[in-house]
Amino acid sequence: MKKFDFHIHTCCSKHWLWGVDGLSTPREVVETAISRGLDGIAVSDHNTTKGGLLAARIAKKMDKNFLVIPSIEVKSKSGDVLAIGVLEELTIKSRSLTAAEAVEQMREKGAVIIAPHPYGREGLGSLVEKLKFDALEGFNARILSRYNRKAKELAERLGLPMVASSDAHIADEIANGITALDINELSIDAVKKAIIKGKTKIYQEKRTKSMGQVYSKKFGVLLHVSRRPSCEEI
Ligand SMILES: [Zn+2]
Repeated sequence: MKKFDFHIHTCCSKHWLWGVDGLSTPREVVETAISRGLDGIAVSDHNTTKGGLLAARIAKKMDKNFLVIPSIEVKSKSGDVLAIGVLEELTIKSRSLTAAEAVEQMREKGAVIIAPHPYGREGLGSLVEKLKFDALEGFNARILSRYNRKAKELAERLGLPMVASSDAHIADEIANGITALDINELSIDAVKKAIIKGKTKIYQEKRTKSMGQVYSKKFGVLLHVSRRPSCEEI
């Protein structure tokens, strides 16, 4: 059994309006995930794979038997689409694709497609039933419990595998949601296959309670440009 958090943002993630989105560097994200006992993470910045590719490089150099899967959360015209395992440098213009186009294009790139927080803000809601997803986020640490409950019901109704994730925007949130995977080998291929085959189990559901703290940190960074973390390998 391996433990994963499949939905994490770094400072390479840009908010479409504020500019600043994730507040931790790829290195901070990797170090925190390792210190919390995870076996791997998917780094899924908004509309870019840059943070994921950097985090993967950093983790490889650490040589710690820890897997980073470069991923992307595409902000489509109708809501977010989470694509696990996009290994090329890619930037997509925010809200330039429909949800169906995002699903199709990311699948062509070999990604496993997850519907994140279907009933939360930027969730796809009933569109999840119309498009072809491999799995659904049955627990997202940032959204209200009743929306997670609805997400679980939807996954059960559609017969989709479920994952749990933190949707961390600061390192401290990492591992608030954990998925256990029934795999022995730690590779991107093994992880993708396990999700598709439904060898997933929600392992940890810890709601992020410090959203006020997250936002005050965000405003601090917005006001003081010099405090902005850098999306580079350092
Ligand atoms: Zn997200």
